[in-house]
Amino acid sequence: MVILNFHGIGPITRDIDAGEKDCWINLRFLEEILDYVAPRKDIKLTVDDGNESDVTFLLPALKERNLKCTFFLCSDRTDKPTFLDKDQILEIRSAGMSIGNHGKYHKSWKGLTGESLLEEILESKESLELLIADSITAAACPFGGYDRFSLKQLKKLEYDKVYTSDAGRCSPSDWLTRRNTIRRSMSIGDVKSIINRKPSVIQEVKMRTKTLIKRLR
Ligand SMILES: [Zn+2]
Repeated sequence: MVILNFHGIGPITRDIDAGEKDCWINLRFLEEILDYVAPRKDIKLTVDDGNESDVTFLLPALKERNLKCTFFLCSDRTDKPTFLDKDQILEIRSAGMSIGNHGKYHKSWKGLTGESLLEEILESKESLELLIADSITAAACPFGGYDRFSLKQLKKLEYDKVYTSDAGRCSPSDWLTRRNTIRRSMSIGDVKSIINRKPSVIQEVKMRTKTLIKRLR
């Protein structure tokens, strides 16, 4: 299985750094990707950050193609300019989409401990749960950052799945799950090769070793 992860769609609506800018794609590119993905059963979609473009551009494009997506939101961003407000989050929910936790303040979970980590992985989860009146069982690490300690705490909180930004394929049984970030610098050909690439055994071992090192540090 392959997971594609989006961030912002359409015009960039606030000041962001160059790294994040590369994660904003235009609507045409999104639609091209979704058209390719729609007939396939081996691809899942997620979107991070709770940008308003989730509801203005992504949601209608998903609905048109009868596609589902998990939206990872940051609780402290709700109702703030350029981010989703409460009504928009409920609209996403009622369209049959899943909601996951992406932290309270969008801090990397690598190196976070104590209260600061709990704010991101527990307080944010609880406040989103209250808003959607349902439980949240998936988390996505902001900036793809995690370490042994944060993963241990996420396990303790009984998250079903934790999504990273480590590229590659994944298996539905993975707890720590790889996702492929879609960037504006990519072409549709690049996206197709991410989806269809079958890594060699050596590449697979290398990738798994890299993840293991990140998990243990
Ligand atoms: Zn993020």
